[in-house]
Amino acid sequence: SMRKKKLIAGNWKMNGSLAANDALLRAVLAGAGLPGCDVAVAVPAPYLAQAQALLAGSPVALAAQDVSQHAAGAFTGEVGAAMLQDFGVRYCLVGHSERRQYHGETDAAVAAKAQRALAAGITPVVCVGETLAERDAGQTAAVVRRQLAAVVHVVGHCVSEIVVAYEPVWAIGTGQTATPAQAQEVHAVLRAQLQAASAQPAGVRIVYGGSMNAANAAELLAQPDIDGGLIGGASLKAPDFLRIIAAAA
Ligand code: PEP
Repeated sequence: SMRKKKLIAGNWKMNGSLAANDALLRAVLAGAGLPGCDVAVAVPAPYLAQAQALLAGSPVALAAQDVSQHAAGAFTGEVGAAMLQDFGVRYCLVGHSERRQYHGETDAAVAAKAQRALAAGITPVVCVGETLAERDAGQTAAVVRRQLAAVVHVVGHCVSEIVVAYEPVWAIGTGQTATPAQAQEVHAVLRAQLQAASAQPAGVRIVYGGSMNAANAAELLAQPDIDGGLIGGASLKAPDFLRIIAAAA
């Protein structure tokens, strides 16, 4: 595959506090130096201002975990893309499996969120992935193709500006990482789909997520179509996150 910088993005989920975030971000910044890859941390919305201040002028980019599919208005509890833009957010997860599972986000809603992020100059990290039942039924390729197709349909030629995260649901938070071969096989499916949809398909980063850690990151990142990682649990411990960043350099 074409040489491009890998992306290592931490997803803190609903974890943290002012004190814990301060310690974690300071430790990441102290250890990251000038990383050989792009690095981002997706923090809970209430901590965007804190993280923005701590990360200012650093090589670690600020990310959000979700964005509203609406621009503004009577949508109590939601956070709009323009609000994220106000805090210097560079990346935003959309369609994380926890949003799809627990908040009923449809493929169409995820696509609308990706479009809102792009319109605000924020790179959407579009999460796709099959459940264990879908994998066992031989539906993995069909499921991830359907999820990505919904986004491609809405964002059109801007698909070259997204990041795709392949996150098998059975691997998230379970300690059961996809093997490098299993992950590569799905990344190749997604790459082929991008080939048909994008003028710059090789430039779209497809990152892997699902129990990636300091011990398994290097072999996953060595696969030809794995362009980085989305890291949940291991992004909450600075030494682990830093080892994954080092593996991606
Ligand atoms: C995630 O939530 O995106 C994720 C990959 O979590 P974990 O690394 O904990 O499996």
